[in-house]
Amino acid sequence: MKITPIIGLEVHVELKTKSKMFCSCSAEHFHVDPNTHTCPTCLGLPGALPVPNKTACEWCIKLGLALGCTPNESSFFERKNYFYPDLAKGYQLTQYEKPFVINGKITVDGQEIRINRAHMEEDTGKSVHIIQNGEELTLIDYNRCGVPLVEIVSEPDITSAQMAKNYLLKIQQIIRYLGISDADIEKGSMRCEPTINLKIEDNNQTFYTPLAEIKNVASLTGVQSAIDFELNRQ
Ligand SMILES: [Zn+2]
Repeated sequence: MKITPIIGLEVHVELKTKSKMFCSCSAEHFHVDPNTHTCPTCLGLPGALPVPNKTACEWCIKLGLALGCTPNESSFFERKNYFYPDLAKGYQLTQYEKPFVINGKITVDGQEIRINRAHMEEDTGKSVHIIQNGEELTLIDYNRCGVPLVEIVSEPDITSAQMAKNYLLKIQQIIRYLGISDADIEKGSMRCEPTINLKIEDNNQTFYTPLAEIKNVASLTGVQSAIDFELNRQ
């Protein structure tokens, strides 16, 4: 019996532009008083009009080129419905049909990993869970809401947890070299969601285990151990 891990990675990277993705609020949200960098646009108030951040669009394309991608000749944003208090307008502006860049590749451990796409979207706010006078409360901070986020989607060409970690290190190195983000996983400016399943070949038959997706892993060693755990489980 031959078992092959099939691992893909979605990587979210917060760009370090001065302003947010669709408004002129400061994109700084670390060590800032809650809800001080907000406006009608990033709070999703009625009548507010989003205007795309030119630098963020250019940086997304720059990153795509560094990942060997091809820019789409035309591109646009779409609404993705999203029912949660940390994004008050009820949808995320993102790209689905025509992302800024497509079809790239990078080499990790001597093996080619294809990049499906890199697209531009906006981050959500932050939920803060506290206990006050014995009561559980959830507070929302909208400073991060609308911060430019690039999502890099790989094809499932990664075959081990170690290779996934090396892929992330390579992506991080490219991003830091371009100077477009801190790409700090521990701080949350780079976040990662692995998809994992197994290809099992037995005699002349091939089986696939159900695909699992692990959300919002917050460290490099966390990515590695989460993938190893899931591979063993499957
Ligand atoms: Zn704003």
